[in-house]
Amino acid sequence: MTEKGVIRLVTFDLDETLWTMHGKGHASLLVPPYTKLRDDELVDAEKKRLTLHKDAFKIIDALNKKKILMSAISANDKDKVLLALEHFDLKKQFHFPQIDWEDKDRGTCNKAALLNKLLSLLKVKMGKDFKYSEILFVDDRISNIDRVRALGVNCLHFTSFNNSLFDVFKFFGSKEE
Ligand SMILES: [Mg+2]
Repeated sequence: MTEKGVIRLVTFDLDETLWTMHGKGHASLLVPPYTKLRDDELVDAEKKRLTLHKDAFKIIDALNKKKILMSAISANDKDKVLLALEHFDLKKQFHFPQIDWEDKDRGTCNKAALLNKLLSLLKVKMGKDFKYSEILFVDDRISNIDRVRALGVNCLHFTSFNNSLFDVFKFFGSKEE
C-alpha cells in the first residue's frame, strides 16, 4: 500500500466484483434485450439475472463525492457489458471502460495492459496524468491482482462477492460507513 490519501483513480472489475451473474457465468453470457427487475438487477432474454453488488451505487456515490475518477476493467464482451452498465445508469460513471473479451475463458486477460491503455486514454482525451501509486485496482482474481500490483499499483483483492466494496476506503486512510 502506498501513502494514505493519494488515490485519485479507482478501477473496478465487473464479474464477481461490481456485479454477479446468478448461477455462475459472466456478463458476456447475457442475451439482450435486458429487462429491469429492480434498480440493481436485470434479467436477459433467457431469464439470466445480473445483480449489482449491494454497495455498488453507494460506493460510486461516495467516490464521486471525493472527486475520485472511476473506470471499469473487465474481461468480457464489450457491447453486452456497456449495455448492462447503461441499463443500470452507470455507464457515465466509468471513464473509458476497458472491456476485453478474447481471453476470458483462458483466464489470461492482461489487465495490466488494459490499465495502461486506460491511462493513456485519460491522458490524451482528458489531460489527466496518473501515477501508478495514485491508482486503486479492485478485482476478485488473484492473477489479475498480481500482474497489476507488479506495476506498483495499489490493489484490493476482492475475495468474495459478499465483501464490502467500502474496503476501498482502507486505501484512503479512513474507512467510511
Ligand atoms: Mg471478476
